[in-house]
Formats: sequence, C-alpha cells, structure tokens
Amino acid sequence: MPPSITSIASHELKTPLTSIKMFIQAMLDKVKPDEGSFEHDALQRVNRQVNKMTTLIQNLLNNTKLLDGTMELHCERFNLHQLIEEVVFEAKLTLPGYFYILKDCSTAYVYADRLKISQVLDNLISNAAKYSPKGSEITIKCKVEQEKVHLSITDNGIGIAKNEQERLFDRYYRVNNDKIRNISGFGIGLYVVAEILHSHNSKIYLESEENVGSTFFFELPDAL
Ligand code: ADP
Repeated sequence: MPPSITSIASHELKTPLTSIKMFIQAMLDKVKPDEGSFEHDALQRVNRQVNKMTTLIQNLLNNTKLLDGTMELHCERFNLHQLIEEVVFEAKLTLPGYFYILKDCSTAYVYADRLKISQVLDNLISNAAKYSPKGSEITIKCKVEQEKVHLSITDNGIGIAKNEQERLFDRYYRVNNDKIRNISGFGIGLYVVAEILHSHNSKIYLESEENVGSTFFFELPDAL
C-alpha cells in the first residue's frame, strides 16, 4: 500500500524540526554560562515546545500507520518507571491542577515498543485528567506478578455508564452526554490505546462508575 498523505507530511515535517532542534541545542550550549538569564530561559522553553511538537508528529505518524494497517513494533527492554515519569512531567505542563500519584512503579522494567507505550500512557493519563475535576487525584500504579507488569490508571472523575463501556474503544466513539459536551476530543485516543496494546498481545480493561471515577488496566511482559 502506498504511504498516505498524512504519513508523507509527518515525515517531511520531521526534517526541519530536527534542524531547528540542532540549532537550539547549539544556542543553549552558548548561553549555558548565563543560566537563569532571559535568553537561557526562553531557549529552554522553545526546546521543550520543539520536543513536544516532535512527539506530536511522531504520534500522528504512528496513528496514520495504525489506521492504514502498516504499524510496526520496535520492542526493547526499558525502565517503565522512567517513562511514566516523563509522561507525567508533560501532563503536569499541559494539564496542570491535578495530583499525579505514582505507586509501586520504581522497579518496573518491560519489553515493549517504548514510543508506542508512551502514547498509551499519555492517552490514558490525559483522559484521566480531561474527565475529572481540577484538584483531583490521578493514580498510576504498577504491580509485578507472574512475569507481567500490571498497570492501572485511576481517576475520580465523571465515570462512564455501564451501557457505554463496550463501545468506548471503537474508532471515533465519544460518550454523548452533557458532562462531556464542552470537553474537546475526537474519540480516537482509546481506539489507539486498544490497537497498540493488541499489537503487543495485550488488552485494555476498564472499571468505572458514573460520578465516582474510572480505572483503566493493562499488562506488559516483565523484563527485570
Ligand atoms: P476523546 O477523549 O478524544 O473523546 P477517547 O477515545 O480517548 O476520545 O475516549 C472516548 C470517550 O471515552 C470519551 O469521549 C469519553 O466520553 C470517554 N472517556 C475516556 N476516558 C475517560 C475517563 N477517564 N473518564 C470518563 N470518560 C472517559
């Protein structure tokens, strides 16, 4: 199958970004002695935004490959705790005002595609925040058992009615009620989560109660 326009566009966008990133890095090295100056601070902000854009483009490319059925996995052993911390760091910047709590993940290593699992975590953690009141807790928990790392993401948000839960992972599906009318989204995030996990021979589960909160679970092979 020939590559789609989105896939070509995302590839093309990566080249100038790489060059921008190189120059920012060179400038950051130059202003290093002036740590705390406006120039240093501004460059670091630009650097973070460029990193963010690189991830967004990479995710766009991944989603396109996923939708046209040409997704490839690049599995490796990696420190899951470190990845969760990176995703939570970003979430704190883009979705501030929540208490992100990490439980028992410090020794978790898994064998999986790091970039794609970062997207799974990002989608689930972003949803946990999007569909919860500000100031509430979002808990990310790990449990190593029987050669698997079991992960869960729990929020105390609006929850999902039983009759909606089955269709939640369908492409473009969004719950249709007043509570989410003003929350933006395309109904693709959970579909992507389910597909990525499926390609890892894993599955996403959910426990949720309306007006109480939701927990999403999945597991990955332990690689300690
Ligand atoms: P989006 O958030 O872009 O609408 P998703 O595929 O990520 O798309 O989610 C599908 C639907 O599932 C959402 O529209 C929302 O109704 C519901 N949902 C997902 N995560 C949660 C959550 N943590 N709490 C409550 N509802 C959720």
